[in-house]
Amino acid sequence: MHIHSLRPRLRRALAAVALTALALATGACGKEGSPPVKGPEGSELPQYKVAKNFQLPDSPTWEKAKRRGHLVIGAKEDQPYMGEKDPASGLYTGFDIEIAKMMSAALGFPPKTIEFKTIASANRETALQNGQIDFYVGTYTINDMRKKLVGFAGPYYMAGQSLLVRTDENDIKGPQDLAGKRVCSAAGSTPYQRIQADYPRADLIAYDTYSVCVDNLLTFQVDAVTTDDAILLGYAAKVPDELKVVGKPFSEEPYGIGVPRGDNALRFALDDALVASEKNGDWNKAYDATLGLSGVPAPKPPPVDRYPAS
Ligand code: GLU
Repeated sequence: MHIHSLRPRLRRALAAVALTALALATGACGKEGSPPVKGPEGSELPQYKVAKNFQLPDSPTWEKAKRRGHLVIGAKEDQPYMGEKDPASGLYTGFDIEIAKMMSAALGFPPKTIEFKTIASANRETALQNGQIDFYVGTYTINDMRKKLVGFAGPYYMAGQSLLVRTDENDIKGPQDLAGKRVCSAAGSTPYQRIQADYPRADLIAYDTYSVCVDNLLTFQVDAVTTDDAILLGYAAKVPDELKVVGKPFSEEPYGIGVPRGDNALRFALDDALVASEKNGDWNKAYDATLGLSGVPAPKPPPVDRYPAS
């Protein structure tokens, strides 16, 4: 019945997703990789004013970047609208990427010079602790446990945990319906931890990335994918005939910029830059050019929490 009519569409969707996954895995630079759906063209993206003669002598991270000549910023590469790498060009796009560019400009480094490094959810704290990246912008929830390991500027956006299912799914409408269902999330993420703690009857499965979870959802290996609404909306928009986001968000996920713990000078400079970009309209322009394409109008950003030096 349903399965029959679904098949050709599903096969096409799977082929698209599998191609993207393959290209991501191999870093292939052929022409086959499809560009992000409704993704912004370079020309439509806002430009940010690069600070002249900016100095931050109290920040060891900034000083190291200055000697190197550019920033190294951790990000995600498989989250449409938020942080996505085009396998053909190697270019990153999305709201988090715009925030990273805005911060780079405020710190005196032209955004074009940023070296983005893809870091999975479970590896963010170690990447910051090892100095692999200068800071991290990638759907990174601020919480007290993580604050013991890293610092956070921001928040710059408020997301909430949600559920992604196949369009033919009628049983799952919220987290209360997950008992006995196979639910996929990313290792080391707050949505994974919340299902484990609050919905122990769910059959929880972890992968490194949400895009692998989505592949598994499309191939009937799992029944739902859970993470932030901002991320799930992007996957649903890629294959709207196959996937839908259901229910209301059931958590608050304030997104912060992860910095090495103890580099308070860098953290405060980023807090200042976020406040300034919300005031001068850059934040709104960045939102409209990226996450706003999902159809949700720009919300008011949450207030920056400039907590004391630690
Ligand atoms: N915001 C959540 C977290 O930081 C989920 C998204 C992600 O894994 O990046 O864990």
